[in-house]
Amino acid sequence: MSSRSPSPERDGLLRRLASQLRGTLTTTPEALEGASQDFGHFIRNRPAAVVRPQDVEDVVTVVKFCRRHGIPVAPRGQGHSLAGQSQVAGGIVLETSGLAAVHALEEDRVTVDAGILWSAVVDHTLPHRLTPPVLTDFLDLSVGGTLSMGGIGGSTFRYGLQIDNTYELQVVTGEGELLTCSRWRDSDLFEAVLGGLGQCGIIVRATVRLIPAPSHVRVYNLPYATVADQLSDHLTVVDDGRTDYVIGLALPGAGSEWNHLLQLVSYVSAERPADDRVLSGLKFQSGLESSVDSTYRDWLMRMGPQLDELKTDGRYRLCHVWSDVFVPASEIQAFAADALAEVSPSEVDHYFPVVQYAVDRRKLDLPLFRVPDQENKCFLFGILKWAEEGHWETAVAHNRSLYARARELNGTHYPHAALPLSSEEWRDRYGAAWKGFAEAKTRFDPDHILTPGPGIF
Ligand SMILES: Cc1cc2nc3c(=O)[nH]c(=O)nc-3n(C[C@H](O)[C@H](O)[C@H](O)COP(=O)(O)OP(=O)(O)OC[C@H]3O[C@@H](n4cnc5c(N)ncnc54)[C@H](O)[C@@H]3O)c2cc1C
Repeated sequence: MSSRSPSPERDGLLRRLASQLRGTLTTTPEALEGASQDFGHFIRNRPAAVVRPQDVEDVVTVVKFCRRHGIPVAPRGQGHSLAGQSQVAGGIVLETSGLAAVHALEEDRVTVDAGILWSAVVDHTLPHRLTPPVLTDFLDLSVGGTLSMGGIGGSTFRYGLQIDNTYELQVVTGEGELLTCSRWRDSDLFEAVLGGLGQCGIIVRATVRLIPAPSHVRVYNLPYATVADQLSDHLTVVDDGRTDYVIGLALPGAGSEWNHLLQLVSYVSAERPADDRVLSGLKFQSGLESSVDSTYRDWLMRMGPQLDELKTDGRYRLCHVWSDVFVPASEIQAFAADALAEVSPSEVDHYFPVVQYAVDRRKLDLPLFRVPDQENKCFLFGILKWAEEGHWETAVAHNRSLYARARELNGTHYPHAALPLSSEEWRDRYGAAWKGFAEAKTRFDPDHILTPGPGIF
């Protein structure tokens, strides 16, 4: 079935599928238009239908039906990836947002449906003084969406990615089989799905790790004269572990200037952090630093109001042409200086600036999340550029050039980014993991019906 199929045949198929579901199948122009887009707003693929499953059995039914009729199908959490990853031309988009229950909460783990938002997960765990160890900066992303990407945050240097903090999954494979997998049970599937971009299965339920949550945080904002000083201190603080969360930022300054900032966050429960200990030996511009205290929850939810503001003033609808590459720590200063010289500060803003997260490769243990492997430390270097509609090609071309330079350094990219890759480029990117990924695809999605958006297979 595709948008080019004769309509009576297509409509008949869709009606048959709808009659087998407890949830809904819709073909309204609004639903199809919504599922044709994502947060990037520059790639559009119109599906034939949008299914909103009511339960896991609906997901099984849809996948089996799609397999029988050769219809492509893609899960969609919040559609916050940027380059068509959750889109499917002429196929079925399976919106998971209705699958949002919390099934079990224990001292060290919580089991949730894959469509639930991380903001709802923490609203459930924080009253019990528990939190996932790694959270994304924006929490209105689905658990299934970030677990299929990786899930990186300012505590990744200590705990790895969200996928590294996942205990168990329930997955519907491309054959429509519902399987439970973990590191110890059907580990091939577990490893093919976490960071697997929806290629081998649809996550329907996840059990993720919890640790004790702080009640408050102290956020330190440290300004730097140069990106080199800022990155060198970024490495110092992740090496000595003096704080709990670290992010590097380049914010637009006056004219063509960048304001370099290191943001350190100390989690507080009973004792306040000793500021001297947190700040000692760092090379920030002394006297210009500041700190602010907040509850842990308010700090976690900090980006929600910012996104609401973008929706109100129209900036949400712009093209978001974000570049996100992983570069070895020894190369990051030169890479960042060159990249910042090529971008105008007016291409980003204070909500979506240039960001850097440190990653310790020794904390990552899943094969499909690819980072440079010649050193223990690397950085995710993200330029969160926006562009007017009709002007995104230049920004994508720049992303390609940044990616090519990162590849020369054995770097990779974060696959939510605005960087469409060919199948050959994906193969190159996956390197040693490609063979296992391709074998898992053949085994778990033999008819290649799942998630064509990234263009991997
Ligand atoms: C404002 C903003 C802030 C962000 N901040 C961060 C951050 O701090 N850290 C970070 O790591 N990322 C961040 N991201 C990127 C984000 O993690 C990814 O884009 C993520 O995929 C978005 O989740 P989603 O629910 O919107 O997924 P979608 O965009 O809907 O889906 C992403 C991909 O996963 C697949 N997929 C979705 N659900 C499932 C499922 N249940 N099973 C299998 N595959 C599935 C889709 O088909 C698609 O290929 C941010 C994005 C935005 C827009």
